[in-house]
This record gives sequence, C-alpha cells and structure tokens, in this order.
Amino acid sequence: MPKINSSKTPIYRESGFNLKDIITTKKAFNDELSHPHFPDNFIYSRYRNPTVSSVEEKIKEIEDSNWALLSQSGMSAIDIALSIFQEAKNDDKWLIFNDIYGGTNSYIDSILIKKRGLKIERFSSKDNKYNLSDYIELLDKIKPKLLYFETISNPMLIVADANKIIDEAKKRNVIVIVDNTFAGPYLWKPLKFGADIVIHSATKYLAGHGNITAGVICGNDDNIMQKAIEYRKLIGHMISPDDAYRLGTQLKTYNIRFKQQCNNANKLALFLSNNAKINKVYYPGLKVHKTYDNAKCLFGEKAYGAMITFELSGENDEEKSTKSQKFIELISKHFFLIPTLGDVDTIFLPVDAVWPDKYPTPGTFRLSVGIEDYYFIEKIFNDTLNSI
Ligand SMILES: *Cc1c(COP(=O)(O)O)cnc(C)c1O
Repeated sequence: MPKINSSKTPIYRESGFNLKDIITTKKAFNDELSHPHFPDNFIYSRYRNPTVSSVEEKIKEIEDSNWALLSQSGMSAIDIALSIFQEAKNDDKWLIFNDIYGGTNSYIDSILIKKRGLKIERFSSKDNKYNLSDYIELLDKIKPKLLYFETISNPMLIVADANKIIDEAKKRNVIVIVDNTFAGPYLWKPLKFGADIVIHSATKYLAGHGNITAGVICGNDDNIMQKAIEYRKLIGHMISPDDAYRLGTQLKTYNIRFKQQCNNANKLALFLSNNAKINKVYYPGLKVHKTYDNAKCLFGEKAYGAMITFELSGENDEEKSTKSQKFIELISKHFFLIPTLGDVDTIFLPVDAVWPDKYPTPGTFRLSVGIEDYYFIEKIFNDTLNSI
C-alpha cells in the first residue's frame, strides 16, 4: 500500500482486520478489552473500528471525559448505559424521572420492567418543575441503586436542578446517568458534577444535519467503560464507520452551530412571547419559565438551548385547532414538520398530534431552531402569525 499523507482518518469499511500471524492474533484477542484505545488492536468492526475510534477521541475532547463510546443510535446508547448495571435476580431499585424522551419511557416499560423484571420507581415533575425535597424524600425512601434523568425535558423544556440532583444521589452512592441531548456539552457537562455516565443522542445536535442516527456514552470510570465495550460488542450496537465518519466531520462545527441555534432561539422566544397570536411560550431563557433559575445557574448564563415550545392563542380548542392547521400550511413552505431536533434547519412538530394524552391542547408546537440568519427566521414567523 502506498503511504498517503492524509490528515483525516479514512472510512475503514472492513468487517475484520488482517491479523497476519499467530503472535499478533494472540495479542489482539488477549488485549482486546484491556486496551480499548490501543491503535493496533483492531480485530473485527463490531468490536472496534479505527474510524469509529478516531471520532470517539474527538467526542472525549468535547465532553472532557476519559472515554467515549459510539453506538448506532441514541436508544442503543441508552440500552448500553442501563443494561451494564443490571444483574440477574436481585432486588435493586432504580429511580427514573418521568419527564424523559418518549422512546426511553417505552423502553423502560416494555423492556426493562415487563421483560427483564426490573424494579423501577418514577419521579414526576409537578407544575412544570421538579420539587427537590420530594426527590430527596424519594431517594431516602426507596434507596435506589441507579438514577436516570434528562437535563432538559421534552417538550416542556423543564431544566432540572441537575447539580443538586446529582449531588444528593452521589451522597447516597447512587449510580447517576444523565441524558444530556438537549443541553449538550456546550451548555453543561454532567460528568464534572459527579455523574457516572452522560448520554447523547448524537443524531441530534452533535451530528446536527439530520443525516445519521448515532448515540454516544461518555464517562471517566474505566470499569464502566470495560463493561460498556463488552456489552456493545456482544449485542452489536456498534455504529457503522460511514456514519461515524459523517459524525466526525460534522462535530467540527458543533460549537458554532449550537451557539448560533441558541442565539436564534433566545431572540425568537422573546419575539414569540410578545406576539398577540401566541398564548404561551416555554423557553428556559425566559424569566417567566418555571425553571429559568435552574437554567441560569446550570448554564452560567451562556445560553438556554435551542428548543422552544409555544401555544397559539384562541378562544377555545376549536379555534386553536383551525389556527393550527393554517399555521402548519403557511410555515411549512419554509420549515419542515420533522419529528427530530437539532438540525441546522429550523424544524417543528405539533405537540398535540405526537403526545395527545399528555398535551392535548391544539395549536401547541415544538420548535427546533436552526442556524439560519435570525432576520429570516423572524420574518417567516412574523408573516405567518400575521396571516392566521
Ligand atoms: C432522540 C432522543 C433519544 C433517542 O435517540 P435516537 O438517536 O433517536 O435513538 C434519546 N434521548 C433524547 C433526549 C432524544 O431527544
């Protein structure tokens, strides 16, 4: 093979690597788990792959963690993070917040509880915020082995007082796992506050272009890393080298994309909250938001995320429903209705259509604000709202 002065890690598409001789083969299989970042030690791409490892190195830097492991989706990252702490036949209890991603909630109900028989207690927000003393009371009552929550909830964007939540759990030796997809490492790094694992659906802000699904878990403890590598290998949750490559390229603009998205969202939230056609705006950067103080404290007034949920005004549900139809018709000439978030393009979702049981009010929308020029975004919203 010619030597090529490449500055990028290429896409290594091989399923298995050429181990050449007995000595290398023995060494590879013996060292495989003990040296997960040892560059020569690639055996089979479901175990580890050089393209994937190079992107994991970048995520480690962004997250400032000892290790990062990629998987093929946010859900598989969640499955890894939660499965490695499960043991057959014991009475451990886990405490899981209720206001979490719908897919995670379904996974907990259908897989963890129904199939694997785990004992799980839920903790719910009240009036769009978490009550810390209720939480502490529950910790002392059920004495969980593990805690799982999200920094910013979906779609009401409740910001947890996450540093205190982690602190109370760690005082009681609880394993803490945080899904930090909405806040991202730009706003907050849970590992710095004692969390054991941070998870991202890299499909969202980290990849940011709506063109892959990917997940990542990061941590500092090597024991946890070994367990996670082994689980990923045995279940086959590994990301493809092609998707890892895309993620690696797109990560280079993560900070500037997210900064612009947060800036746009901050301005748009203010604009929407002053518009007569809008009844309510849920955005953690607005002083009226129930968890504004948590956001300010956690994110150090840097930014408040790039998701906004709002409700159109109307006398009754029928009027809101009619306005909602009109709103979708007009806005979708510019922005798409896509059930994901974190893309460079502004996208939206009708909340009542996705979660009819929890949020039945028609005319409620969740916005994932993109990187477009702010002037353009505001003009489209202004024109659309004036026409409904
Ligand atoms: C999307 C999402 C997930 C699931 O990630 P996928 O990449 O779709 O598997 C998990 N948690 C949060 C907060 C999400 O937004």
